[in-house]
Amino acid sequence: MSRTTPPRPLDVEALFPGPAAYRGTTTRLHPRPGHPDMEDSSVGGPLLWPADEPWPVCTEPHRHARGRRPADIHRQRQILASAWLREPNPGPTNEERQLLKELGQEHRVEEAAATDPLPLIGLAQLYRRDIPDLPAGPDDCDLLQVFWCPFDAHGPSGYGMLLDLRWRRSWEVTEVQISPPQPRVVGFEGYVPEPCVLHPEQVATYPFAGLLPEDLCARIDAWEEALEEEAEQSTDDDAEAPVGYQCDLSIPPGWRVGGFASWHATDPSPMNCRTCATPMHLLLTVDSSEWDGGSSWKPLKEQDLPTHRYASPTEVTVGRWGELNIFSCPEEPGHPHRWSIQ
Ligand SMILES: [Zn+2]
Ligand SMILES: [Zn+2]
Repeated sequence: MSRTTPPRPLDVEALFPGPAAYRGTTTRLHPRPGHPDMEDSSVGGPLLWPADEPWPVCTEPHRHARGRRPADIHRQRQILASAWLREPNPGPTNEERQLLKELGQEHRVEEAAATDPLPLIGLAQLYRRDIPDLPAGPDDCDLLQVFWCPFDAHGPSGYGMLLDLRWRRSWEVTEVQISPPQPRVVGFEGYVPEPCVLHPEQVATYPFAGLLPEDLCARIDAWEEALEEEAEQSTDDDAEAPVGYQCDLSIPPGWRVGGFASWHATDPSPMNCRTCATPMHLLLTVDSSEWDGGSSWKPLKEQDLPTHRYASPTEVTVGRWGELNIFSCPEEPGHPHRWSIQ
């Protein structure tokens, strides 16, 4: 079943002269729970990984002997999901509460010495044939595979994320790794995705306001302030929140490929390739939520679904319920990626 974004509440190109020149496209991935196989683009699905190639590992020397078991995390989510759907008594029973408590416990894996390589979690794979905004990989590669380490324990801070992105030519994979290694415990449940199939949809998008030319950004600010003032003076308690450039007109929420990064949590910072200094392009956004309550981006077929139960199909969370933007070098897609958490 395809997913369709509702028309924007306002046409930004009719509101101001200027944005048309900056219009781009992004592909909303619309991940939804399902049973993807390794020939499918997916989040949390099986990856097309060659049997004779070593599975990606984290070799940074951080502790990974203690954490929650991935199977417990999946089970806990299943119990909660079915408990909240139950009528007439939604919510977990006392018995379920006890089980949830047990599933929520951390475990210690004795033999996992702090320096053993830790298998990464396969987060997503994207075939170029499925996703209009996925750029060509290096050397004709058509499949992007995304991995991460399930512990916040990397980089100079010691609390950073570790990502590993691999491009490959899917037609070259003959024998596939059937049961890849898995971390036995994870540091944070948000690193463990639920299997989702994708329903890619290409939509128009515009840059983050702070990265538009100053005069255009000022016009947008003034327009938004006027709308807010109008809303404050309104006596109608049921009036909907005013339309905003950031929320409704420029960058859609949710998992997506290409388009523009949002910088709502930090100021925009230049993302230049560390190898060749070329300004990088947004490759992939990993989002904790597909839409917020009242969001104008909620797909047409899902307007009636309650946000708290349906807006986080992947169960992946990054930052403080935020989004992870991964950038790639447009000159040479094999150059190392960079990322920012918003
Ligand atoms: Zn690690
Ligand atoms: Zn580069």
